Amino acid sequence: MTTTTSDARTPLAINGSEKGAKKNAEEHTASGVTPTLPSTTDTTPERVADGVWRLALPMKAPPGHINSWLLEDGNGWFVIDCGTRGKDTRNAWQAFMQSPLYRDGITRIFLTHAHPDHIGSAAWLARETGAPVLMAEPERQAMLDLAVDASQRNAELTTWLTHWNAGEKHIAQCQFFYQHFADAVPVIHSDIQIVSAGETINVNKKVWRLHEGLGHTPCNILLYQPEQQWLITGDQVLPDIVTNVSTWWRQDKNPLGIYLSSLTPLSTLAVDLALPAHGDPFSNFRERCEQLQSAHAQRLAQLTDVIKTGHTTMPDILKKLGGKALYSPLFLLVAGQIYARIALLLSEGTITETAGEDGQRTFTVSN
Ligand SMILES: [Zn+2]
Repeated sequence: MTTTTSDARTPLAINGSEKGAKKNAEEHTASGVTPTLPSTTDTTPERVADGVWRLALPMKAPPGHINSWLLEDGNGWFVIDCGTRGKDTRNAWQAFMQSPLYRDGITRIFLTHAHPDHIGSAAWLARETGAPVLMAEPERQAMLDLAVDASQRNAELTTWLTHWNAGEKHIAQCQFFYQHFADAVPVIHSDIQIVSAGETINVNKKVWRLHEGLGHTPCNILLYQPEQQWLITGDQVLPDIVTNVSTWWRQDKNPLGIYLSSLTPLSTLAVDLALPAHGDPFSNFRERCEQLQSAHAQRLAQLTDVIKTGHTTMPDILKKLGGKALYSPLFLLVAGQIYARIALLLSEGTITETAGEDGQRTFTVSN
């Protein structure tokens, strides 16, 4: 039977849906880290370190799961990320709540960022448990932006995508995408406590320092425990997938620039165990940051070559680099990454642009 929940129809796989992504995963496997993803049928929390547990929640879209990290917090639980909005996710939480492990329940719900696989069940979980939600202000704003009136959103999307020379069909695909994206991010109406990078949070007498990860979303917060050298990464650094960095409606105009510059200070952290939102815990955090930097450098070089060899307009560049996903509701997840690369190359002066009278932008590699 075909499911018709918004989960099933919504392209929630924000990460890794591009031609080059699989290749990078293979490269990473070749470097010695096997991308063994946890089973999505078993949603029993698994202890991964002293006071740290993983609850792998199901996702209909690849990569098939999202890790909620559970930190022991006195007799209760400090929860990091909540899974998608959907029955399977709620069933998993309810099973946890009915298990002896649950003890005094959830004390706080921390959201690394406001993408559907992280925030989708947060409003529900906060209502069920009465726990406060902690999130960064730019992520709260992103959640609220999704809730604007659809006609206003569609008008803004049309203006934004016209600037990128997207045709009518692609604009319609993006409007469809955003409608389902908005459906998958219910607004949290209960108590929200705003957190910021640089602050610390005490959980079970351990201090966690908050770090900022930019570019994937407005402000993916990472949680770092300096004594144990544990780092909860959200989606900023994943072991097997190149994090999707795309231009988004109402968000930073050069997301790849800020993603790469925020990766540099993160890569200097001493990390013994990195706990990602997708994939298994990993210990080669610094090396992984370097791999991501070089994966993006390769993609930027590839785009520069494509422009150099005469593919100078957006439709032509997308046709050359985008693949089949351009003709699906995933258009934005692919095109948005290419737009992000164009924006970075423009900002650093590697390419320049001219706009014709019809608004068609033409790109040229600078000398
Ligand atoms: Zn995610």
